[in-house]
Amino acid sequence: MARARIVVLLGPPGAGKGTQAKRLAKQGSYLHLATGDLLRSAVARGTELGKVVRPIMEAGGLVSDALVMGLLKEAMAEAGGAKGGQRVVFDGMPRTLPQAGMLDELLAESGRAIDRVVLINTADKVLVDRVAQRRSCVVCGAVYNLKAKPPQVPGHCDACNGELIQRPDDRRETVLARLRKYWQDTAPLIDLFRARGLLVEVPGNGAIDDVAAGVLAAVDGKPALKAAKSAKPPVGRKGKARAKAKPSASRKQSARRAPAAEKGRKATRTRKNKAEPRGRSRAKAGRKKRRS
Ligand code: AMP
Repeated sequence: MARARIVVLLGPPGAGKGTQAKRLAKQGSYLHLATGDLLRSAVARGTELGKVVRPIMEAGGLVSDALVMGLLKEAMAEAGGAKGGQRVVFDGMPRTLPQAGMLDELLAESGRAIDRVVLINTADKVLVDRVAQRRSCVVCGAVYNLKAKPPQVPGHCDACNGELIQRPDDRRETVLARLRKYWQDTAPLIDLFRARGLLVEVPGNGAIDDVAAGVLAAVDGKPALKAAKSAKPPVGRKGKARAKAKPSASRKQSARRAPAAEKGRKATRTRKNKAEPRGRSRAKAGRKKRRS
């Protein structure tokens, strides 16, 4: 089967989308378009848009669909990425259901469409720790992990010797807010893309090389699951209530395949608006496990 040309990397913050997208871009000759990078660049340059989005990003919120799409369109036009047979990997986009529709329309303008969506599945408990260890170069944007991928000289980038800092939105409180946003606004895309027969799930808890191998196999292979008839993303308040009351078939499937991630999601939902709730949710999960 031919390698997918238009790929979306989906997953919660800290799942390794950025790292994996860069690897894929190099190994598979993809143009890498990361909306987070585009937004950070606008903030760093102090543009008008940068001034608007900075507080939103620092609070762990989502920038408006219109602003993000505007930036993405510009970047795609500059890179000539929408035309011809250029392979493109979208990282951090779409993040909402409306963005998915807008991306479809944008690609359709040049007769293209999303070929594959790779979901990097990682348990919430792993994510918070992982993001806390993340450091980014202020000069070239290279990303390190103090445990898994430390720089050779502490505090300095291996590539350009720039200073390594913790991104303001990588602080613990902000990561928890970003995770809540993910489950509320982005996770409905999982069912959407599964229903369209585009989704492939890759376990994201392992070593970077193992995840990279999984991502590469996912863009080369075909989705394991056919479209699930009942897979309807929870939209709006009613949708959310429905999803809570009766999990869809596809939700049950993902629970079977990735129980840790699913538990993490439930924990995140119950933790909403609570100050220090993680320990309690974990303790509950532990008690349940011991009983069974
Ligand atoms: P990322 O580097 O992808 O984790 O993105 C960092 C931050 O940029 C996110 O927490 C959001 O505040 C913002 N952001 C990135 N991509 C999007 C998007 N597609 N829609 C809305 N906000 C975004």
